[in-house]
Parts: sequence; structure tokens; C-alpha cells
Amino acid sequence: MTKSAELKKYLDKAIKEKFAIPAINTTNMETTQSIVEAAKEMNAPVIIQITESAIKYAGFSYAEAILKTAANTPQVFIHLDHGMSEEMAKQCIESPAFAAVMIDKSKFNLEENIAGTRRVKEYAGYKLVEAELGVVGGKEEDVIAEGSIYTNPCEAKRFVDETGVDILAIAIGTAHGIYKDEPKLNYEIIGQIREAVGNIPLVLHGSSGLSDEQLRKAVAAGINKVNLDTEIKQEFIKGFTQYLEKNPSDYDLRKIFGEARNYAKELIKHKIKVLGAENKY
Ligand SMILES: [Zn+2]
Repeated sequence: MTKSAELKKYLDKAIKEKFAIPAINTTNMETTQSIVEAAKEMNAPVIIQITESAIKYAGFSYAEAILKTAANTPQVFIHLDHGMSEEMAKQCIESPAFAAVMIDKSKFNLEENIAGTRRVKEYAGYKLVEAELGVVGGKEEDVIAEGSIYTNPCEAKRFVDETGVDILAIAIGTAHGIYKDEPKLNYEIIGQIREAVGNIPLVLHGSSGLSDEQLRKAVAAGINKVNLDTEIKQEFIKGFTQYLEKNPSDYDLRKIFGEARNYAKELIKHKIKVLGAENKY
């Protein structure tokens, strides 16, 4: 079975058993390891995802080598997050490390979003493709959007039918990055979209800063993949700075980054529990 087929199996299981697979962004080796270790300790399937700008920061072959190693752990799946260019999506599809890619044409109109997503889906072959419909607010690396626009369930149905997309990211009032005000989520839309599109995995972007209760409600309403980035990075930095505060003269990078890696791992384990993914591998 390919990693893509395995991932599809776990996404289908998430729909059936009402849990969500955490999809955590990585920018370096230590974050990648924290996700792998959390998945192993919790016996959970996880997705490690990387954005175009994070790939460019590391260089494609460095990023690919680390991700390929991570994917040797059976319950770990690699995904391109917010592929803004079809070129990058194609490059990741061709890489043996990646099980899935996201093509994000959500800033274009519906027709262009459908056409672009369909092109990538046709190219992808057996690999899974995620696309986004509606607008998730805020800023995440290269993704900047004013305010959010809820996904329309009728449009979602048409979008899924015409693109053949495997995984659908929807907008229910979340935003990327750090929340300034308490986010108001529309859980009802999740159920309406689920009803309209049938059994396709639904993704929540901009999940950092949501309370455990909000995450649980979103999962109960039908979310199957929860993207987490900002909060994990903040926890990584917390481990880093707290170690240096306690050991100001230490310069052993392994100890400093090691502590950051532990902090990130513990938060990821907590998120796995909240999303109901513990013991789902
Ligand atoms: Zn996102």
C-alpha cells in the first residue's frame, strides 16, 4: 500500500470514528522530530506539513531528506501546505517523501479555483490533493487574507464534483496566525458542508489559539484534519528561551534545541488527545 493510500485509509477512519488527524507545520529538523515522537508516544496518525516558503528556507533537497526520513515512521504522512504555485505542487507530487499536496487557489474566483485544482488533481495520480474553498482570515507565511468568508455548502458540492479533490479545506471563521479577538466559529456550516459533499475529509485551517473546547466541537461537527502551526512554533520558542533563562551561559545547541523539541512534543501530544487521535493508529 502506498503512503497516500494509507493516509486515505486514516482520513476515512477519521470520518467514520469522528476524530481529526493533527497536521502540524514544520520548519526544521527538531520540529519534525517532535511531531514524529508525539505520534509514536500517542499511537496516533499524524500529518507533517510544510509550506512553500519553509521548503525554500531549507532548500528542497534538505527539506525532502528530513521529511522522507520522518515518513519512514508508518503513522507519519507528509503533505505540502498551501501550495500557491502549481510548479511547487507538482515538484512535491513527484517527490517520494510526499503523500499529499495542497493547491491553494482560494484567493481566485470559483471558476479559476476549480480549473487550477483540477489540473493539479489530474497531475497527482494516486497522490492525495487538498484544496480550499472560502477564505480563512489572517496571515500564515505567504498566505494573507482580510477577514474570513464562510464556505458556501452548495459551492462546496460543485467544487468537489468538478475537481475530484480528495480533501477539502473549509472556512468557518478561523484565521491564520495569532487571534486579536475571540474567534467566532460557525459549527453549523461544517454539518451543512458534510451533508452537501458526502464522505470527503474536511480540514480546519487557522486552528492555533482555539480552545480545547472549540477544537472538540469542530471535530464533533465533522472536521477530520486540523492544521496547527503558530501555537507549536510558540511552544518551541518557549522551550528554547526558558532553557536559556535557566542556563544563560550554555551554548550547547543540542541542549537548547533539545528542550525546544520537548516542549513542542508535549503540546502536540496534548493536541492529539483533544482531537481524539490517540490510539487511532
Ligand atoms: Zn492554512
